[in-house]
Amino acid sequence: MRLIMLGPPGAGKGTQARILEERYGAAQISTGDILRQNREHQTELGKTADGFMQRGELVPDDLIIQMVEAELPRHPGGFIMDGFPRTVAQAQAFDALLARKGIALDAVILFEVDRDTLVRRLSARWTNPRTGRTYNALSDPPRTAGIDDEDGGPLVQRDDDKPQTVEKRLAVYQKQTAPLIDYYKRQGKLVEIDGLAPVEDVTQAIVAKLGPDAAA
Ligand code: AMP
Repeated sequence: MRLIMLGPPGAGKGTQARILEERYGAAQISTGDILRQNREHQTELGKTADGFMQRGELVPDDLIIQMVEAELPRHPGGFIMDGFPRTVAQAQAFDALLARKGIALDAVILFEVDRDTLVRRLSARWTNPRTGRTYNALSDPPRTAGIDDEDGGPLVQRDDDKPQTVEKRLAVYQKQTAPLIDYYKRQGKLVEIDGLAPVEDVTQAIVAKLGPDAAA
């Protein structure tokens, strides 16, 4: 299975990608997680990306495309792109990369969520920096506040989930990423999903729309 999760920050892309990767035997590839790992290990890429990420801006396309190109061969069983592509230039480069490899995308899932919900979700979001798993302090809290259910380690609030940066990230999404909706609609790949529904219902809707043949 080869999917792209498309939608604004806080729409539920990562949550669904993590659920679907088990179901379809395809790997979640989160460009945000890869960048955060690079930042933590202070690689050249991490140092360059840091300022852009703190400001809620996009990291330059050429760096992201190189990163995805290096990551893709590690996942021959398929992928669920989470947070990539984010610009038309990235989408075009990705199409070219897939064509060179003789791979076709199955679908692009568009998560539709209103702006107020996104702001509320992001400000209540707690993340396990080791695995990328997220919780919502209000609707999906961990068993113990601030502690991950799975590995027992601390949860953090991402710096860029602060209110001013959230506003900036939503504006960047509208301007630079939303044009991808038409881009993939024209390719006949777009599958629209109501991202406001409970997590299990969103999963069911995606699986139903991908069709019975899409099973792992
Ligand atoms: P995310 O975890 O997907 O919200 O990404 C966090 C931050 O990483 C974004 O605000 C960007 O600064 C950067 N980033 C992640 N993915 C991309 C991408 N595909 N293109 C450019 N910047 C990205």
